[in-house]
Amino acid sequence: MLKVRNVFKTYQTNKISVQALKDVSLDFDNTGLYFILGKSGSGKSTLLNLIGGLDNVTTGDIVVDNNTITQYNLENINQYRNYNVGFIFQEFNLISNLNVKENIAISLRMQGKKPLDEEINHILEMVELKDCIYRKVNELSGGQKQRVAIARAIIKNPKIILADEPTGALDSETSNRIFSLLKELSKNRLVIIVSHDEEYAREYADEIIYIRDGCVEKTEKINQIEANNVSYQEIEKKNSLPFLTSFKIGLSNLRINVIRLCILIFLSVISFCCLGVSATAFQYDKAKFVVDSIVADDYLDPLSIIAYEKRNNSISQQSIVKEFLINDINTKFDVNYVGEYQNFGKSNRNFLDDISIDYSKSYDALSLFAISGLTIFSENDINHWNFNVHGSYPIKANEIMITRYFYETFEKYGYKYKDKIIKADEVTEDAILGKIIEVPKYSHSDLLIEYTITGIVDTKINSSKFLELNDYDASKTELSKMKELINCYQKSSLHSVAFVSKSGLDSIYSYDKNEEMIFDSAVCLMPKDKKKILNVMNYLNEIGDENIQYNIINTTNEWIDDINTLLNSLKFIGEISGIILFFFSGLLLFNFINLSISHKKKEMGILRSLGASGLDVFKIFSIEGFLISVINSILSIIATGILIYLINNKIQEEFIINVNAYSYTFITIILIIVVSFLSCFLSIFVPVLKVSRKTPIEAIIE
Ligand code: ADP
Ligand code: MG
Repeated sequence: MLKVRNVFKTYQTNKISVQALKDVSLDFDNTGLYFILGKSGSGKSTLLNLIGGLDNVTTGDIVVDNNTITQYNLENINQYRNYNVGFIFQEFNLISNLNVKENIAISLRMQGKKPLDEEINHILEMVELKDCIYRKVNELSGGQKQRVAIARAIIKNPKIILADEPTGALDSETSNRIFSLLKELSKNRLVIIVSHDEEYAREYADEIIYIRDGCVEKTEKINQIEANNVSYQEIEKKNSLPFLTSFKIGLSNLRINVIRLCILIFLSVISFCCLGVSATAFQYDKAKFVVDSIVADDYLDPLSIIAYEKRNNSISQQSIVKEFLINDINTKFDVNYVGEYQNFGKSNRNFLDDISIDYSKSYDALSLFAISGLTIFSENDINHWNFNVHGSYPIKANEIMITRYFYETFEKYGYKYKDKIIKADEVTEDAILGKIIEVPKYSHSDLLIEYTITGIVDTKINSSKFLELNDYDASKTELSKMKELINCYQKSSLHSVAFVSKSGLDSIYSYDKNEEMIFDSAVCLMPKDKKKILNVMNYLNEIGDENIQYNIINTTNEWIDDINTLLNSLKFIGEISGIILFFFSGLLLFNFINLSISHKKKEMGILRSLGASGLDVFKIFSIEGFLISVINSILSIIATGILIYLINNKIQEEFIINVNAYSYTFITIILIIVVSFLSCFLSIFVPVLKVSRKTPIEAIIE
């Protein structure tokens, strides 16, 4: 028994209120076919929607089987729509991206039941649509669509079927078939049809209700309705849309507009990718990069410590590396630094040929023409470094040990001192031992000090990165770059210096023996431990102040400083563009999903009218958003990786290093995933929340 008691319905729009129903009271039996007749705008649809629980009354009650549905909470009203009502709309309201079978099956799925093929076939037979089971619904005619809608309503075997002008858009033959079907169904359930066609009403109705201006004008019994006991579904079960159905609808939503989806993904990936690269630039770690570059080739390069002094806003290298500092670092970090003096005269005079560097000859370019510095050492240091020594260590003040690299210049250009001459092709290590070379006195390049060569030490210098100098082609390689390389090679201290004893150092550099020794720089062989280098570097940073600054350098450092300046500026740009791109990508996604949701509002309303809850609707669109987010994340992560790889390659090429300036960190990957999902879900959650606050009928109509 369905009772409508004193129902009022007022629509409030733009300050105008429309009273669609005024004090409507009606009684319906459990079975029978009722027609509600009335002119357009008289309130028929409003009444039917209220009975179906698709809209809320303003005042009054609707009682179904002793349950006042107008007082139901949201969940119960969903269940009422789901289990007890089959609603048939004039505009069919099928879900266009599902086929006939799925459109019908969704009714059962919504109840948490698995639709059986035979069940669906049986229903399709009833509505004479057996051949259309796998057809897309928008390929069907109006009559066929309406029969699918009827099949969707009756498959769940509802106790009430509500049809709002079900044949309004159909021809008379089809209309008659549909009314016959509904008549048949009314034998064991209540069927209420809204129509404005009195002819059909007279032919099929058991009772006709006339509505006029929102009021019941009169009711007219045509047939005596047999009393029939219909038990209503107990509304207790709590079922929500199963995951698979949500997934299917979500997936099919993606397929509706593939081009738009592709554009969205393309734009999102670009944005997230930029975000990822910005984040990477932002995370640029100078210390790591410097250490990486220092140890890049292998650990054979020497590692120097030099000091810079800041004076009148200019920074210049100064000879202020104190013995104390060297000892301090050696004990603290277990390294073997020794002091070194640099910057002796431009060229050595002990070569047979008169030479000046000719850069067009790689042969010349790689040669060392002058000792660049003197350093003292202990036998321990040499042993520690595992250098091979031909001859012996310098002990006396006038003894010196040259490097193999310097010796090789004699091999190329011969040896000369006063009347002692050895031609280039006669130079051997033994021939050079015992010979004299002249080294200019420190900061007095005219004063020459004589040293006797007692040994030749192979400093095992790693020259692999300078090998391209051997194939140097002046027409192909930029001269400036070449000079830079050569400069670097020769500056790299250990192989361009010579070794003397402590007393040997005294004769070249006069200092007060009571004072602490001060060197131009300190040099050691690269520690085999990145961490050690990092520690030394950090320590040097720490002890530096506004006036003095200590730096670690090796052969590649010259470039590192350039790169570092570049990357530091990129860090700043990265920060700003990162924020801009974040909003850009967020807006893009928000816009797309908003668009897709407003397109889907009607579909949401249909689902709601079938009994889906707001949560179900959210689930469907969350799945859509989830799928987009997953695709976005994966593509963005890959694209960002590729981009970082390319940028690193470009930097390596440009600066002749083989270290990656940027590293693709886990943080960046997480950032991309989080941003991708967050923007997607925010842009879904807001509109879905908006739609789910509406009544189903509002969502359908809009
Ligand atoms: P019928 O179905 O008999 O043609 P309706 O029930 O659709 O009539 O409408 C009854 C009255 O309520 C009409 O005046 C109509 O303009 C108004 N109305 C219906 N739905 C809305 C709505 N969502 N907002 C505002 N007014 C509405
Ligand atoms: Mg209507």
